[in-house]
Amino acid sequence: MRLILLGPPGAGKGTQAGRLVERHGIVQLSTGDMLRAAVAAGTPIGLKAKDIMAAGGLVPDEVVIGIISDRIDQDDAAQGFILDGFPRTVPQAEALDRLLKDKGFDLDAVVELKVNEGALLDRVETRVAEMRARGEEPRADDNAEALAKRLSAYRAQTEPLVDYYSEKRKLLTVDGMMTIDEVTREIGRVLEAVRAADAKKGTKASRAKRTVKTGAKKAATKAKGSKAASKAKAPKKVAAKPAAKSGAKSDSAKKASAKKPSAKKSSGKQTVGKKASGKATVA
Ligand code: AMP
Repeated sequence: MRLILLGPPGAGKGTQAGRLVERHGIVQLSTGDMLRAAVAAGTPIGLKAKDIMAAGGLVPDEVVIGIISDRIDQDDAAQGFILDGFPRTVPQAEALDRLLKDKGFDLDAVVELKVNEGALLDRVETRVAEMRARGEEPRADDNAEALAKRLSAYRAQTEPLVDYYSEKRKLLTVDGMMTIDEVTREIGRVLEAVRAADAKKGTKASRAKRTVKTGAKKAATKAKGSKAASKAKAPKKVAAKPAAKSGAKSDSAKKASAKKPSAKKSSGKQTVGKKASGKATVA
């Protein structure tokens, strides 16, 4: 399974990614974590990123794209991955499309965690308190000033990805204001619906493929010994109809797969999950 988790800072992407890793045995690729590790290790990338990150700005695209490309090539990512914090801009998303295509991978879904902005500062303050309680050093960018900058960068540069993936019929929006467990359950539910729809689509496609083969075989047998060898090809086209039809169905099945998990739909974007009083925190 190959997923993207989308959402503003403090939406709970890290927490949910951790749970998806446990559940699906895939790896979490967090550009933020990787960059923080690079800063801590004082690598050239870390030195480049340190001040930008502390101020809540975005590290240059080529840096993060390079990191992700190298990381996807590692063995432990072969079974699948969750991208957390990447892509963050449309050019990064386009680069990711190219990268996945080159590596022969498909993206299964993009899960957007939708949260009220007003709750984010609270959540980030909770994260700081929890890290301190664990004896860890809080993140340099977990303060009101940097958060405001990260949020405005999110709105301007990352939020357009909602439309980007919505148009590609990959977007699943989950209400991130529910409790952590409820969000986890909703994500599980929508991903299961996508998986089931894909499996159905796969069965239909292979059935259509068989029809094409059988039809072509029959046609070839019939045409054997007949005057025009070219005729052998004609029924193939007729027999290929179901495949074309099934291709069209695949599209609607795709739509259905995105529709399935949704409780609400607006302009190709799916919203799932119900509001709950519980408050979620971030890891
Ligand atoms: P995060 O842990 O995802 O909140 O990321 C922390 C910081 O790392 C961000 O505020 C950026 O400075 C940097 N960063 C992480 N991912 C990216 C990315 N995809 N593109 C640019 N900068 C990033």
